[in-house]
Amino acid sequence: MQNVIHTDRTQGVRPASPADDPWDPIVSLRQFGRHRLTSVEMTISNLCNMRCEHCAVGDTLVMAEPGKLPLEMMLRRLDEIEHLQTISITGGEPTFSGKTVKEYLIPLLKYARSRGIRSQINSNITLDYSRYEEIAPFLDVMHISFNYTNADDFHEVGFAKSGHPVARETAARMYERMLSNASKLSKGGLFVSAESMINFRTHEKMAEIHQLIVQMGCQRHEVHPMYPSAFASDLPVINKEEMRRAILHLLDHRDSSLWMLFGTLPFFHCSEEAEDRNLLARLAAEPNVTVRNDPDGRNRLNVNLFTGDVFVTDFSDVPAFGNIRTDRLDELFERWLAHPLAGSVNCHCPAAACCGPNLLVKDMYYREVDFLARKAIL
Ligand code: SF4
Repeated sequence: MQNVIHTDRTQGVRPASPADDPWDPIVSLRQFGRHRLTSVEMTISNLCNMRCEHCAVGDTLVMAEPGKLPLEMMLRRLDEIEHLQTISITGGEPTFSGKTVKEYLIPLLKYARSRGIRSQINSNITLDYSRYEEIAPFLDVMHISFNYTNADDFHEVGFAKSGHPVARETAARMYERMLSNASKLSKGGLFVSAESMINFRTHEKMAEIHQLIVQMGCQRHEVHPMYPSAFASDLPVINKEEMRRAILHLLDHRDSSLWMLFGTLPFFHCSEEAEDRNLLARLAAEPNVTVRNDPDGRNRLNVNLFTGDVFVTDFSDVPAFGNIRTDRLDELFERWLAHPLAGSVNCHCPAAACCGPNLLVKDMYYREVDFLARKAIL
C-alpha cells in the first residue's frame, strides 16, 4: 500500500477525539480538583522559511540561531513532572533545521511515546515531505496554520514581514506543497489539525477556508480568534459582533463529519450579553464541535530551549518566572499560580465546563471585570 506512515503506537497512546482532548485544562482540573501542570510546550527553533503577518513570535525569528540547552536537561525536567500528559513543540518552524529534527525533535517525540503521553508539533508543513515523513511515526498531532483560500492569500499573509520581496511563484509552490503534504500525511494516518484564525482578513471567508481543510483530509479544524499580541500588535482588530457572525456562518456551512475545535473565545457563560451565551449554547449542542479552555498557565508552561527560560506562553508579555537550569517545572507552575495575574483569571464554573478567560482576552475585552465575582448563567 502506498503512502502509509508506519506509526509507532506500541505504547498505546490514544488519538485525540472530541470526547478526549488532553490539552484542555478542564480535564486535569476535574481530575485533581485544582490546576496541575500536565502539559509543556517547548520552543526549539527561532528559524522559519516564512514571515507571517500574524506570527505571534515573529520578533524572535533570526537567520542563524544560537545553541540550545542539552536535550538531557530538558528530558530530566520533563521526567520530574508528576502528571505530565502532553507535550507541544513549537518554533519558528521546528522542522526547519535537519539537525534540530534529529537531535531534539525526534528524541522528544520518542520520549513522549515511551511515557505514554501525547505530542503535538506546530509546523507550516511547507518544506519537503520527507522531513515530515521522518517525524510522523512518533507524532500524535501535526498542527498547521491554515488561513487561506488560495495561493495569493498565502503569498500576501505568509511573507508580509519578510523584509524583501518574495516572488508569487515561489509562494505558490510552497502553498501547493503545503496542501499536498497535508493530504499525504492525513492519508498516511497522521492526525493533522489545521488551525484558522478569525481576523480582519478571514472573518468573511471562514466557510471557504473550512472546505479546503476538509479537502486536504485533515482530522480537525481548529478555530481561534486572533488577538494582536507582540509582533502582530499592529493588525486591525475585529469586534465581538463580527466574530460571533463569523462563527455562526461557519457552523451553518461546515462539514459536520469533521471535528471542529474552538479555542481562546472571548465569550463566557457568565456574560451579561445574551448573544454570547446563545452562541456558546449553540456550540455545545453541535455534534463534533468542542470548545477548549485556554491551556496557557492553567495546565501548561512554555520552555525556551535556547535560554531555559520558562513562560506562561511562547508569546506572552509576562516575563519569564524561572529557568529549567535551576528550577523544577512543577515548582515553577506553583509559582505561576501564586502570581496575581494567574489569580485574576482563576475562576471555575463546573456546570459550564469553563475555567476562565485567557489573559490576552481578559486584557483586551474585560479589563475591568472581576471574573472571580461572576458565575455562569445557565
Ligand atoms: S468560569 Fe469564569 S469565565 Fe467561565 S463562566 Fe465562570 S466566571 Fe465566567
